[in-house]
Amino acid sequence: MKAPAKSSGSSSPAVSTPAPSAAADPGRKPGEGEGFDFFSLLAEHEHEQVSAYFDPSTGYRGLIAIHSTVLGPALGGTRFWNYQSDRDALIDALRLARGMTYKAAVAGLNLGGGKGVIIGDNRTTRREALFRAHGRHVESLKGRYITAEDVGTSTADMEYIKAETNHVTGLIGRSGDPSPVTAFGVYRGIKACVRYRSGSDSLSGKAVALQGCGSVGYHLAKLLHAEGASITCTDIDPQRVKRVVEDSAAKAVAPDAIYDVRASIFAPCALGAVINDDTVQRLQVEIVAGAANNQLAEDRHGDLLERRGITYAPDYVINGGGLINVNAELHGWAPERARSKAGEIYDTLLRVFEIAREEGCPSYRAADRLAEQRVAAIAKVRRNFV
Ligand code: NAD
Repeated sequence: MKAPAKSSGSSSPAVSTPAPSAAADPGRKPGEGEGFDFFSLLAEHEHEQVSAYFDPSTGYRGLIAIHSTVLGPALGGTRFWNYQSDRDALIDALRLARGMTYKAAVAGLNLGGGKGVIIGDNRTTRREALFRAHGRHVESLKGRYITAEDVGTSTADMEYIKAETNHVTGLIGRSGDPSPVTAFGVYRGIKACVRYRSGSDSLSGKAVALQGCGSVGYHLAKLLHAEGASITCTDIDPQRVKRVVEDSAAKAVAPDAIYDVRASIFAPCALGAVINDDTVQRLQVEIVAGAANNQLAEDRHGDLLERRGITYAPDYVINGGGLINVNAELHGWAPERARSKAGEIYDTLLRVFEIAREEGCPSYRAADRLAEQRVAAIAKVRRNFV
């Protein structure tokens, strides 16, 4: 497997496309020698399957990409987005599905990676028939793919899907808000980073610069404050800042000033791409560890952090609590079990840093190695017909 693509937005990674050729060659590799590069897109990162379904009555156009089912059924949300082209939609589905394989693998879950996309305007009010068409699409895969919410979809949409299939999670009244579990995993991850740097994982007296006082940021601040850390926080929403200031004795700064705060830890819990050419030079911290997805604008920013001696907790490892919460819903786990599983992020991150040291690579690459090792090991165990 190759390293996962970033899992946000709809921008597309560069994908090599073979030169068109008129002659059919039975010995060719998948996708090679054709004008249309469908199978080469799948082959490039070893995706197992893509399913396309069109429902003329609703205008539903949906794709489901399954990257890997080695560890278990492929889980990943459904994104509803007005893609520029069908090819863009396919590439987004493929890259997001691959990212889910890695995320589940490092979280130690028995889930594979998949993703659904619905092509169209996600502001539509005619949702029931559309999402029921998607539910039928999901059902046609007989459990190889399990869906959930993502950009452009809501829990109410999941209820429409549920009318057609049981292979859906994140339903109203089930596992509920994942943020407390995610925040706990991030808190444990921050402790692991501190331990890696200093030998002790105590956060007492540590300064944390917290970006984003939303669902995860709020809960994270409480955990950090309870352990004696001092918090400087920011958000574009003053009400959210106020809650963290009042409940976790934090100090507030303007949104852009957060990158200049001198602290032990920068915890990005708002947006993606916050580690970029501008900010990577400004940070005055030892550790970057937070919940946000896709924190590195590009992989090379992970290399730049490394070069500056800043320990980076790979985002998809430290924010795995959300997926663990979904898994808890699937398997009927008690909340305590989900929390305990999220707590294991501590050991996972220490293992990531160990691999980085052994292989002399940045931590974001080491996380990929860890995921690949688990998928490869389980694939071998399951190879035999027993
Ligand atoms: P949220 O929407 O509740 O909170 C995000 C906060 O960031 C909001 O308060 C928003 O006002 C603030 N924000 C937006 N732009 C900002 C800026 N420029 N500067 C400062 N603050 C800004 O989201 P959340 O559920 O807390 O998730 C936070 C991040 O963690 C997101 O990137 C999300 O994808 C990721 N994540 C969340 C979970 C989860 O369980 N909620 C799981 C995994 C990953």
